[in-house]
Amino acid sequence: MENQRSGVFVGIDKRGRHTPHNKTSDAALKAIRSHIESFPVVDGHYTRKDSNRKYLGAELNISRMYQLYQEKNKDNLPDTQIVSQAIYRKIFNEEYNFSFHIPKKDQCNICVNYQKETSIGTLTPEKKYIYDKHITEKIRARQEKKADKDHAKENLDTMVATFDLQAVLQIPCSLVSQIYYMRKLNSYNLSIYNLASKHATCYLWSEVDAKRGSCEIGTCLYLQLMSLQRNIKHVILYSDACAGQNRNQFITTA
Ligand SMILES: [Zn+2]
Repeated sequence: MENQRSGVFVGIDKRGRHTPHNKTSDAALKAIRSHIESFPVVDGHYTRKDSNRKYLGAELNISRMYQLYQEKNKDNLPDTQIVSQAIYRKIFNEEYNFSFHIPKKDQCNICVNYQKETSIGTLTPEKKYIYDKHITEKIRARQEKKADKDHAKENLDTMVATFDLQAVLQIPCSLVSQIYYMRKLNSYNLSIYNLASKHATCYLWSEVDAKRGSCEIGTCLYLQLMSLQRNIKHVILYSDACAGQNRNQFITTA
């Protein structure tokens, strides 16, 4: 009953020890856990605060995982040990910190805290003041960006662009069931968008080449600057991140 690996009984003898009939057996639990853990995970995108949270592919969901669990175990486990979707879901939710959706980017702490405290009713006037100021700054930054864009349209010696690191791209992306369990190749895309000319440049690399930290982003920006036309004398770059979050001290001090 306990666990069989290549036909060898490795569990302890449980004869005479009674457990309630509706209790999920240890072997069944083990099969659920090992199935959940057989999926490759991705770390979040800039998820500093919630760093334990891992992401499964966006093409997955619990129902699909449960289907795969049934498929995988129908020949290995006795029917009595194939648990219901409700139990599978319970284990998934209670024991793991997995999410299917890779967030495009983190919101800054000010925005996250404001939303949280507003919803539970603990927002203090001080926090409200900080948030309002933050939003005012955000609106101002947007206005500045618009003004710079208009300026660049009139002045050909000025380049104004935004840059943004896209959420991790996993390769290959497929709905074939075997691919769900495979380790994917993480790829990164930093795009730089010229606001006036509407030209975009994408810098793509994979985890084999480099990470996705401030140095890599700095390299992309450097390459972009090196490839500018000779007439460009002024460059204004905007990071598309939330204004309250200064994530890249290397870039801002460069
Ligand atoms: Zn914010």
